[in-house]
Amino acid sequence: MLLGFIVNFCILFTFAILTYIPFQNKLTVFIPSPKYHPFLLGVLSGLTGCVLMLTSVRISEHVIVDARMAVISLSGVLGGPLATILSGIIIGLFRMFFHGFSIHTLIAGGNTIIVCLVIGYCISKKPMTFRNASYYFTYSIIQSSVVICYLNDWSLSGVLPLIGFIVFSFVSFSIVFIILIQLSSLFDKIHKIEEMSVTDYLTGLNNNRKFQEHAQNLLKTNNKFSLILLDIDHFKKVNDTYGHPIGDEVLKELALRVKDATNSCGGFVSRNGGEEFSVLLPNIESSKSIIIAETIRQAIEKNTFHVSTGEQLTITISSGISSYPENGKAVMELFKLADDALYIAKSSGRNKVVHIDQR
Ligand code: GH3
Ligand code: MG
Ligand code: MG
Repeated sequence: MLLGFIVNFCILFTFAILTYIPFQNKLTVFIPSPKYHPFLLGVLSGLTGCVLMLTSVRISEHVIVDARMAVISLSGVLGGPLATILSGIIIGLFRMFFHGFSIHTLIAGGNTIIVCLVIGYCISKKPMTFRNASYYFTYSIIQSSVVICYLNDWSLSGVLPLIGFIVFSFVSFSIVFIILIQLSSLFDKIHKIEEMSVTDYLTGLNNNRKFQEHAQNLLKTNNKFSLILLDIDHFKKVNDTYGHPIGDEVLKELALRVKDATNSCGGFVSRNGGEEFSVLLPNIESSKSIIIAETIRQAIEKNTFHVSTGEQLTITISSGISSYPENGKAVMELFKLADDALYIAKSSGRNKVVHIDQR
């Protein structure tokens, strides 16, 4: 009996890991479109339930026990009501006919189908999660225990195996679900760290690493694009006059304004360092990029910055632009030319836009 339970647990655990990782989309594993997930999960859970029944533990003439209810619960969490109902129908029909059809197999298989229909209906109202799955699972075990007692003619000799079934069910379910909850929080942390590694901590914009990656991707498409580098004029003075924290507020507000001004043309805005920002403009040639940079410049110059001390500041920015493919074929080259154009804007009076073609 013990060996049967161990085999059942191993199958359940393998199923849990193999479905959780791709279907929760936590790792880059190929999986068809999400709209097929409930169907796929239903079929996979159903088939796994059948394998569990093939290795089930027989506790009396008419009763076999296995981890099928835990598989059904898992399909409910990952695939929702459709997956639960589908797996229940597959498992229920298999239970009815695999050992030869009889009134007993009809009751046992019917029980699985009813459990899945009830759970499927409930989770169509309130989705099943790793946290609330234990309630649905408990219901399935209570109903199954009653059916087991009935199939055992309520005999006392069936009590001990029934306790074995209940203990096995809850222990295996708990181990699998606790591991999945841990995995889930681990993947969430990894996802957060991944995001942090490409995000500027102060402004929430893309950081220089993400900028480089995105620029390389734009080059690969071979479509034209422009790069605007922009830098706040005399920003040191803002820090010196109002303090570094107020300088930070200005940087955050500036980030929002640049994003707003370039949203409609698909601008990819980054903070490359200090008070230097960049905008990658896909499919935008040099003449249009100058107009966009000028719009940004005006959006900064014309509207005062309200800071937390109640003061209002006016700042200006200077921009340098280069365009692909006419000005360069590599990111470093385009960046250097935009920086050269920015230097020209600075040295010729600031609060200006200069395209490298204009030098
Ligand atoms: P220019 O017009 O030539 O660009 O003059 P500038 O004063 O803006 O340039 P400079 O390079 O001399 O000084 C940049 C300043 O930006 C100095 C630095 O303290 C400030 N800065 C850089 N990063 C941050 C930041 O994260 N927060 C704040 N508040 N200030 C920063
Ligand atoms: Mg500056
Ligand atoms: Mg600077």
